[in-house]
Amino acid sequence: MVLANNYDVIIIGSGPGGYVTAIRSAQLGLKTAIVEREHLGGICLNWGCIPTKALLRSAEIFHYGQHAKDYGLTIEGKISADINAVVKRSRGVSAQLNAGIGFLMKKNKVDVIWGEAKLSKPGEIVVSKTSKKPMEPQNPVPKNAQGEGTYTAKHIILATGARPRALPGIEPDGKLIWTYFEAMIPPEMPKSLVVMGSGAIGIEFASFYRTMGAEVTVVELLPNIMPVEDAEISAIARKQFEKQGMKIITEAKVTKVEKAANSITAHVETKDGKVEKITADRLISAVGVQGNIENLGLEALGVKTDRGCVVIDSYGKTNVPGLYAIGDVAGPPMLAHKAEHEGVICVEKIANFPGVHPLEKDKIPGCTYCHPQVASVGLTEAKAREGGREIRVGRYPFIANGKAVALGEEQGLVKTIFDKKTGQLIGAHMVGAEVTELIQGFVVAMNLETTEEELMHTVFPHPTLSEMMKESVLDAYGRVLNA
Ligand SMILES: Cc1cc2nc3c(=O)[nH]c(=O)nc-3n(C[C@H](O)[C@H](O)[C@H](O)COP(=O)(O)OP(=O)(O)OC[C@H]3O[C@@H](n4cnc5c(N)ncnc54)[C@H](O)[C@@H]3O)c2cc1C
Repeated sequence: MVLANNYDVIIIGSGPGGYVTAIRSAQLGLKTAIVEREHLGGICLNWGCIPTKALLRSAEIFHYGQHAKDYGLTIEGKISADINAVVKRSRGVSAQLNAGIGFLMKKNKVDVIWGEAKLSKPGEIVVSKTSKKPMEPQNPVPKNAQGEGTYTAKHIILATGARPRALPGIEPDGKLIWTYFEAMIPPEMPKSLVVMGSGAIGIEFASFYRTMGAEVTVVELLPNIMPVEDAEISAIARKQFEKQGMKIITEAKVTKVEKAANSITAHVETKDGKVEKITADRLISAVGVQGNIENLGLEALGVKTDRGCVVIDSYGKTNVPGLYAIGDVAGPPMLAHKAEHEGVICVEKIANFPGVHPLEKDKIPGCTYCHPQVASVGLTEAKAREGGREIRVGRYPFIANGKAVALGEEQGLVKTIFDKKTGQLIGAHMVGAEVTELIQGFVVAMNLETTEEELMHTVFPHPTLSEMMKESVLDAYGRVLNA
């Protein structure tokens, strides 16, 4: 392949935001290149969404194996986990999908420029040899990779993603204090862990390690775990985690970490000022992520940033003509599906594609793949009430659903929130088995501005977990059938 020097669109970063944008850009007839310094697929494919779900799948099967008796089955001997094999499977899944992105770039005639990109002037980038040391030899930069040089484009899209945030004094060291990178590839199973932060990333790792048998303590600064979720859903999830033996301390912060040769002692200060010292093998720092805005030449071009992210308008435009940003580097919610959607909107606007409209952030679903799973879209009950809105709330418990009982998954809730005046669905919140698959039904409904009546007229298949979605709607209007 011979790289050109000039393109219609150059995208910096090949995460889910960057590579999907590149495909759409090429589909729209724009001469497109993507620059990547490390691995195709970004954090999502290599260190985020996908490998964590592979780990969590192993944990789920381990859990069912341990509970085989509940289903009338006997496993001869003891079911045990080989953490190296579990990690190997997860890395294999990531490698398979990473290769798939290479194929997609070729298929769509997107040039891949390997190296680290920096803006040199408006419409121009310089690509140099990557300075980033890869975390592992897997999914490496290909041997025949080309890239170093100067390239120009009418439109440059930053899709450089994000990296772990660190708290001063509790900086990850890769050995005793882990980020998600190290937590994804443990060389051996830690016996105990402190997880600092209970957002989606922290809770997924807490759930994985607890299911695999580690003693896990979660420390969260706010009153509820998974603080962005509806408080009722969060409380149900917490109860389930605690039943599984997870220790959860809320309204508390890790103020200091003492390190020994092969363990840490976390000083955990609760809101009443008491300090509890918790010793564990490792601490996972999961206190959020921050945008990769450094060393990109943004300052020289006067690109506006805010709290570590590039400031954009509703179509991804920055304050510098011809420069755009999408995905994690363009701010929250820092989710792969938000990155993809934002990128498609951005490049369709560039190409003057008809009917493009801005991303509606309040209709972006969020999913956490812990056990039990949590999924939501739209306003929480508290947020809806805070806004002074009159609402109707529906609830339907898993235990009343035939399929949930048949599956042996009786713990959970489907909660729906409607605007009392208009009947419009404004929020849906779920905790329980497979809710990360169910939530999309409500996302579609919200996008179509569906009312309670339309949902009540919709036929849901039996027996499915999805029937709980209808029952929750019926409950909001005092018409629940199976409860
Ligand atoms: C543990 C974990 C689990 C997660 N699970 C989920 C989940 O289940 N669902 C979900 O929606 N989201 C999840 N996320 C978040 C998701 O991974 C991110 O939102 C998503 O990857 C953002 O995509 P992006 O394209 O903006 O950036 P990224 O995926 O971060 O990709 C950015 C790319 O840009 C490259 N790059 C950066 N700077 C340069 C440069 N100067 N030159 C060249 N290349 C550069 C990087 O090497 C990287 O490959 C998870 C994240 C983590 C950490």
